[in-house]
Amino acid sequence: MNKLFYTNAIFYVLFIASSLVACGQSNVEKSNKSQDTPSFTIFKSPEEWKQILNKDQFGVLRNKETEAPYTGKLLYSKEQGVYKCAGCGNELFTDEMKFDSHCGWPSFDKEIAGGKIKKVEDHTHGMNRTEIVCANCGGHLGHLFDDGPTSTGMRYCVNSLSLNFEKKSNIVAQSNHDTITLGGGCYWCVEAIYEMLDGVKSVESGFSGGKVANPSYREVCMGTTGHAEVVQIVYDNKKTSLDEILKVFFTVHDPTTLNRQGADVGEQYRSVILYRNAAQQKTATDIINQLNKEKVYDQPVVTAVQPFKVFYKAEDDHQDYYNANKSSGYCKMVIQPKIEKFEKLFKDRLKKN
Ligand SMILES: [Zn+2]
Repeated sequence: MNKLFYTNAIFYVLFIASSLVACGQSNVEKSNKSQDTPSFTIFKSPEEWKQILNKDQFGVLRNKETEAPYTGKLLYSKEQGVYKCAGCGNELFTDEMKFDSHCGWPSFDKEIAGGKIKKVEDHTHGMNRTEIVCANCGGHLGHLFDDGPTSTGMRYCVNSLSLNFEKKSNIVAQSNHDTITLGGGCYWCVEAIYEMLDGVKSVESGFSGGKVANPSYREVCMGTTGHAEVVQIVYDNKKTSLDEILKVFFTVHDPTTLNRQGADVGEQYRSVILYRNAAQQKTATDIINQLNKEKVYDQPVVTAVQPFKVFYKAEDDHQDYYNANKSSGYCKMVIQPKIEKFEKLFKDRLKKN
């Protein structure tokens, strides 16, 4: 640490000396700070930076100014993609590292590996802080604090102006994504549980397996449309798997009662796995065979494994029902115990935050 500091200090002194000798610029005081030392691979004069950065970006990246809190364009961004240094394009953070810190600036709990960010002691304004700068161009990003709420304990507090965001194209973003449709009784319960599982990107409640197009909740409840209440789960197959999703499925509902979950009785509450390809079909039947073979339940599993045809999304007030209606009697009595069971058994697999 000290050695690095002295090495930097030597560069710093040499650089001041060479700047003074080379051009004798009057703004040496500002431009001689850490971002312009020769230890960075990209070195440009302030005039050159001004050609690629706008006035506000220049102020933050090159003069270490701080944008006003709650003004940055990336503060609330939750889109998938990569955050790059606005000066040189160095990839610094991904959307998965971003969290809402309520501090007024975009915050991240870690950086993309590979020494892309340099940490510099900062004693300005009477404080002892750790400044973070782009390791390529020395551009000022913000500060690093050790009060982060996630498992890393870190909070990279970064100016929006220091960053450019590149949205992950839909094709790339979806390349790791698979979809499965499951019926496990009341979809409110099943949806609430899968929304908590790490690797699950989205869960929608709806209907499938029936004869009527675009059914309403009321029609399905009457039990005459042939549809089952289902959830459609989009998941990242690098973070979870169909195997894990089905293990959760067989933990949080009773797969041995035909057309029934507890007090909910009717064909719409049937246990069903709607597969999209042969691999999903095999995973589903293998698990069911194993459950029956090992007699995990007192009764045989009656879960149907059928090809997926069409999914009809339920009305908006049926989406995210549990979170919107936690205080209702049904949520407290029926859904909450299932969630508690899931949280206990899959405690290492819950989404962070
Ligand atoms: Zn940079």
